[in-house]
Amino acid sequence: MSTTHAPPEGDAKPHNFITQVIDHDLAQGTYAGRQWGGAPGDAAAHQAGMPDPARIRTRFPPEPNGYLHIGHAKSIWLNFSLARQYGGVCHLRFDDTNPEKEEQEYVDSIRETVRWLGWDHHFADDPARPGVKQPHEYFASDYFDFMYRAAEYLIEAGHAYVDEQTAEEMRVNRGDFGTPGVDSPFRSRTPAENLARLREMREGKHADGAMVLRARIDMQSPNINLRDPTLYRIRRATHHNTGDQWCIYPMYTYAHPIEDALEQITHSICTLEFEDQRPFYDWLLARLVEGGLLLAPPPRQYEFGRLNVGHVITSKRKLRQLVEEGHVAGWDDPRMPTLAGLRRRGYTPEALRLFAERSGVTKTGNAWTDYAALDAALRETLDPVAPRAMAVLEPIKLVIENWAEVFGSDGHLEPCHAPAHPHHPEMGERRFMLGKELWIERTDYEETPPKGFFRLYPPRQAADGSITPGNKVRLKYGYVIECLGATKNEAGGASVVRARLLKDTKSGTPGADSVKVKGVITWVGAHDGLPAEVRLYDRLFTEEQPDAGGRDFLSVLNPASLKTAQAVVEPGLGQAQPEERLQFERHGFFIADRREHQPGGRLVFNRVTGLRDSWGK
Ligand code: ATP
Ligand code: MG
Repeated sequence: MSTTHAPPEGDAKPHNFITQVIDHDLAQGTYAGRQWGGAPGDAAAHQAGMPDPARIRTRFPPEPNGYLHIGHAKSIWLNFSLARQYGGVCHLRFDDTNPEKEEQEYVDSIRETVRWLGWDHHFADDPARPGVKQPHEYFASDYFDFMYRAAEYLIEAGHAYVDEQTAEEMRVNRGDFGTPGVDSPFRSRTPAENLARLREMREGKHADGAMVLRARIDMQSPNINLRDPTLYRIRRATHHNTGDQWCIYPMYTYAHPIEDALEQITHSICTLEFEDQRPFYDWLLARLVEGGLLLAPPPRQYEFGRLNVGHVITSKRKLRQLVEEGHVAGWDDPRMPTLAGLRRRGYTPEALRLFAERSGVTKTGNAWTDYAALDAALRETLDPVAPRAMAVLEPIKLVIENWAEVFGSDGHLEPCHAPAHPHHPEMGERRFMLGKELWIERTDYEETPPKGFFRLYPPRQAADGSITPGNKVRLKYGYVIECLGATKNEAGGASVVRARLLKDTKSGTPGADSVKVKGVITWVGAHDGLPAEVRLYDRLFTEEQPDAGGRDFLSVLNPASLKTAQAVVEPGLGQAQPEERLQFERHGFFIADRREHQPGGRLVFNRVTGLRDSWGK
């Protein structure tokens, strides 16, 4: 199976409050006067280019300080699918303004994950040069020069000042919800004084934390975000992109609107926690448009409710803790809600898209979505395409004692076949051999069967001395067998199940229906079955909201989130390729592990999900 899955052109066209906004903007021609083209960050080129009123531009702006998680899948889907729906462009932008936490490793994994999800159309048409594909991938750090020029402009226009209060003084003087802030004693410095100070900051003449650049807005504003927010800080740290070129770095709240504007984003979509930042976003861009540094109209920010999934944690800090403290085997541990983990676990890009789409886009609240909805989307997308195979996860030997009687010799092998997929004959056939000795599931044999058990159990003697024969089942794609009992191990448990085969009952032959049975069991030949490690994953946390009410999420880790089975699989699986997804009949969907599985060598399969919803249980 290929590992990139481009979203079909016919993907549903969702309607939500954001599409309403876009429809309105397009009808009004809100962005019709804007220009395309030029390298973002270059204000001159920013003014040139071709008008392209019909296009919208969105962006997905991850900070490369960790791996993407399932919440990001929603944001990715929303931004890229809106661009696709409206024939626009979505930018993948690395919001790398904080050198201390960011690393190339994260940039690489984010880029790979967005592609894996099927959105490599950030390599989209360049509107200025028809037919030319242009990579719409950007780094906030490429705009540091512009951001600095904008800061000098803000000072010159009286909209910013350098504050030398201590961090503690600034915190106290900011006030809180009930208390208005207090102006800094440095607030009334002249632009010339401020400019000199900012330049000194930039030249490394002051210690880290000695002073900051702040916007001059309103220390009494009811919105605390408008009480002279910090724009620049001094931080001597090596940046993954700009190295040691800078010792001052822009704050996220200052950098982000500028990034959007330089890239000529039309609709800047983010999660609800940024709602209170919107007034500053608008204030800043209005000032820079006024000053002629940016084009009008500036981008607008729209907020939607973030995705929360039951039994899942999406805080990067907590995910990092799980990795660093060794509670999981790494960022791509198949139990992790990172997209790298979900990929390794076997989740499909199609399922993640379907899930994101179904979870809706709303202005209100941070609703919780049931994990079962993700698994349902997964089964729906896997069932039509996953080839079937037989695998015995908890093997016990079964010996057919009358084999030579029926087939002439103990060494005879009886060919059987099965469709690769029950509804897709074009996917071909699997062929395997039935022999005298097989592996079957240990749980398919019961010495004393509970009521309603239709699989193998031995003959029984009734109180009156009469004997009921052992139960009959069909070996799937093979013959009907009758259970004769089991040999025991020292502990008294069954070690080998004994059976006899009923002649002329082979599946697909006229005699197949001559004996009616209530049970069908799966099996793998002992002569050609292959050993495989099968990893059975369960939810990582036992509680639906692991960190609710300040609970330590580590206290509700599921101790049984991973069980490893030494299984036997049908011979064809020896050639399964890493990331190939299969349905093991009766057991669920599995994927050949993308790291540890080796075709023709060590076989490792991860359970993606069961055949039915088991989250409720
Ligand atoms: P952190 O945990 O460090 O705050 P983050 O998860 O917010 O990080 P970012 O890299 O800042 O990660 O996010 C990139 C984009 O993904 C942002 O636009 C953010 O709004 C969006 N996003 C993050 N989490 C979710 C979520 N659970 N649902 C929807 N969108 C999300
Ligand atoms: Mg964030």
